[in-house]
Amino acid sequence: MNFLVIELKFSKLVCFYNKLLLHIMKKLIDIQRILKFILFILAFSIQVHVFAQKHSVLLNKIDKIVEKEYSYLDGLYKYLHKNPEISFQEKNTAKRIAQELKKIGFEVTENFGGFGVVGVFKNGSGPTIMVRADMDALPVKELTGLPYASTKTTKDDLGNEVPVMHACGHDIHMSVLIGTAKTLVALKSSWKGTLLFIGQPAEERSGGAIAMLKEGLFEKFPRPDYVLSVHSSATIAAGKVGYREGAALANVDMVDIFVYGEGGHGAYPHTTKDPIVLASRIVMSLQTIVSRVISPFEPAVVTVGAFHAGTKHNIIPGQAHLQLTLRSYADEVRNKTIAEIRRMVKHIAISAGIPENKLPKIKIRAEYTPVTLNDAKLTRRIKKVAESMIGKENVSDTPAVMAGEDFGRFGRTDAKIPICLYWVGTVDPKKLAEYKKANKQLPSLHSAYFSPVPEPSIKAGVKTMAASVLDLLLNK
Ligand SMILES: [Zn+2]
Ligand SMILES: [Zn+2]
Repeated sequence: MNFLVIELKFSKLVCFYNKLLLHIMKKLIDIQRILKFILFILAFSIQVHVFAQKHSVLLNKIDKIVEKEYSYLDGLYKYLHKNPEISFQEKNTAKRIAQELKKIGFEVTENFGGFGVVGVFKNGSGPTIMVRADMDALPVKELTGLPYASTKTTKDDLGNEVPVMHACGHDIHMSVLIGTAKTLVALKSSWKGTLLFIGQPAEERSGGAIAMLKEGLFEKFPRPDYVLSVHSSATIAAGKVGYREGAALANVDMVDIFVYGEGGHGAYPHTTKDPIVLASRIVMSLQTIVSRVISPFEPAVVTVGAFHAGTKHNIIPGQAHLQLTLRSYADEVRNKTIAEIRRMVKHIAISAGIPENKLPKIKIRAEYTPVTLNDAKLTRRIKKVAESMIGKENVSDTPAVMAGEDFGRFGRTDAKIPICLYWVGTVDPKKLAEYKKANKQLPSLHSAYFSPVPEPSIKAGVKTMAASVLDLLLNK
């Protein structure tokens, strides 16, 4: 064996050794990577576990606080129920809500946008969450027979004496607002951020939300990252809540149509231009807007709720007055419906021989109620929170309704803040089952017989609202 061969063999050996070393090093790096990965998973699971534990501890705390505070909230609810005030007259209700928020530690501004109440509770830097409760009642005579039923009356805008009742459950909403404020302030060491809790007047007349926004709600106070509200449900059992993503309540418009003709003797119709016949043609034609103009895939309602005309059997009057309500979810559908009403009314009047200067006048109430568009992501998120707070069996998806709520306005400013209004059940579960069995309709919202069961309704409202706000404060 010569020297060269030995050297070659040696260098092959070195080469093999190097390769082996490299291979071992690579394996070691892989093992390190695997170890690192295992450690990461372990740390992550511990974090998730700690977070879940913390979360369930907080939910437990909410539960205990609400159970403890309920007797106070019950008293507040019954006071509010007994002392209702109609839209634009909520002076004493607003005063009580302001007092309650002050007692809890909120900085309170009163008479903001009418009788609006704005409460701010600052607790370090963090997100700002707004919770809104409406405060007004309705001119309805309460017939529930409850020991705390309202016997109040008041004078309406026209000076007529009218009965007053919380027939839309706004007293439940205010109790939930105060209960949520109490709960979150009791837990203030667990979160950082700002609470913006408002008592809104005049929801039923659709003037309260816009008045507070015009006065500068989102400019003069910390601007919220999220806005939440509840509404009582007359179809969901007390103790349960319901959620709807997207359009939850409708666009609502009120329209007046004044139809003019030429009156005269009922025995000489050929000498008149009968506004009753003309208005009747208008009523019938309006029915084709939903059936023939709007797409069958788009919900819309055109209802003529009032038809006023004439005084006597044998007189053809000079004018008729129609009162309509319009409902829709999409703004394009709303605009199309209004444009079609204008077009139809004008051309039907022309075809009846009404001169240019006597064509019908159409008045659309300027302050309409816009659609309540629940932010999908926010709705899904707080629905999950509610499930862990009061149990999956007590949380459901609810269908959209054609009723209106001016809460939608808080999501329609330039700031485009995500909003969500969810339903709080108020019906005695036994009654719900009985009515279902008998195929009978339960008393609806605005009914003289609407009688929420306070305890389970308010508790479910406060627990879900407090847990939702807390979740948004902790993980914006
Ligand atoms: Zn209402
Ligand atoms: Zn309402």
